[in-house]
Amino acid sequence: MTDDNCIFCKIANGVIPSTTLYEDEQFRVILDLGPASRGHALILPKQHFADVCDLDGEIAAKVLPLGAKIGAAMKKSLECSGFNLVQNNGESAGQTVFHFHMHIIPRYENGPSIVSWTPGTASPEELAQIAEKIKSSL
Ligand code: 5GP
Ligand code: ZN
Repeated sequence: MTDDNCIFCKIANGVIPSTTLYEDEQFRVILDLGPASRGHALILPKQHFADVCDLDGEIAAKVLPLGAKIGAAMKKSLECSGFNLVQNNGESAGQTVFHFHMHIIPRYENGPSIVSWTPGTASPEELAQIAEKIKSSL
């Protein structure tokens, strides 16, 4: 199913043109219009899913291998030395387009830090308490 009001549904299904790297029956992989680095790409399923929690199991199983395939091609063709697979869920996590997508961000030697955080601290008691909370909702 697609959503008429969703820009990524339109791009994924070719209604709006994009710079496409790869396409099959279920996915389109495009270059991001606001790249974090040279070659930054997005994997878009052709069906509409809001985020990873909404994702169909068959599509989910194909996303990671597709990310690896595109990332490997980037390493060969763009001379990046690595890549990040990044996937945001929810506004607080940085999601701005509410159609599931995975970022493939090529990384270059001495390039800027793109995905990073400052490690915090947590006591063993805190870790145990948090783990119990999450486990009770699985
Ligand atoms: P999010 O922040 O939701 O994880 O990522 C959305 C991404 O989509 C951003 O990196 C943004 O640059 C990209 N983007 C938003 N609109 C368009 C568009 O119309 N075309 C393309 N190619 N990328 C887009
Ligand atoms: Zn959509």
